[in-house]
Amino acid sequence: MFNNLSEKLDKALHVLKGHGSITEVNVAETLKEVRRALLDADVNFKIAKEFTKRVKEKAIGSDVLTTLQPGQLMVKIVKDELTELMGGDAAGVNLSGTPTVILMSGLQGSGKTTFSGKLANYLKTKKTKKPLLVACDVYRPAAIDQLHVVGDQIKVDVFSDRGNNDPVAIAQAGIAHAKANGHNVVIVDTAGRLAVDEEMMTEISNIHKAIQPQETLFVVDSMTGQDAVNTAKAFNDVLNFDGVILTKLDGDTRGGAAISIKSVVNKPIKFIGTGEKMEAIDVFHPSRMADRILG
Ligand code: GDP
Repeated sequence: MFNNLSEKLDKALHVLKGHGSITEVNVAETLKEVRRALLDADVNFKIAKEFTKRVKEKAIGSDVLTTLQPGQLMVKIVKDELTELMGGDAAGVNLSGTPTVILMSGLQGSGKTTFSGKLANYLKTKKTKKPLLVACDVYRPAAIDQLHVVGDQIKVDVFSDRGNNDPVAIAQAGIAHAKANGHNVVIVDTAGRLAVDEEMMTEISNIHKAIQPQETLFVVDSMTGQDAVNTAKAFNDVLNFDGVILTKLDGDTRGGAAISIKSVVNKPIKFIGTGEKMEAIDVFHPSRMADRILG
């Protein structure tokens, strides 16, 4: 995960690690390399620039030039700032409501259906909940089949209504079904498109208004780099969602989405997807991720 970024940041900071004392020039050069590493990882230009500016201010504030171990101090400052950038503390899911309603949003192929299953499985095993999956993709019969396959795999019930082409009505019927059958969490999987379009936004917005979920989660493929951030912004403008799910972090993503998304939409990354299997889900911990990136 983020091997390239880790390597480059390590290289940038390594220069300082070897010095007993450093100069302003050393610091400036290091920060330039840090910025380059972030840009190479697909971090938005403005975010990378502000990041290095903050690191510089902190470095000056903590007398990095006169400390005995400037390298270590700089690593710590960069790590702290990276943690802050990615959201500070880990954010949980809101499980209030009877039942808790969780709405999944995102583009087609982002990993919504897979993640709906992973989340249901996670809530079932870790939080002893009784989830229900609801299939609201009325355009692709294969998407409904896929959710049933996932449900069978994790032994979680799936609600679908194949003849119905109104996703709002299906979502509402799903919630009624959950209430009648003792499910205390309802995960509503919705249709995505290949790109942001008005029709999809209107549909998800209508579902959102009708079911008033406790949690609206936006699922995004971390491999899509800067596009992930732009898509997040578009969905957040319409849904004002509660959290982000970053999928496919097991691939060779450069990491830009993980680093930038929080500061663009000001919503936490709540979970990450790290594989196709139902168990490949992790709660997102910004500080652990920063540790991982900086080794
Ligand atoms: P949806 O269209 O948003 O519902 O996306 P899907 O859940 O169908 O996922 C699209 C593809 O991405 C499928 O082949 C999934 O197996 C795959 N996928 C989903 N999440 C992950 C992940 O975290 N890692 C990897 N490697 N593949 C994933």
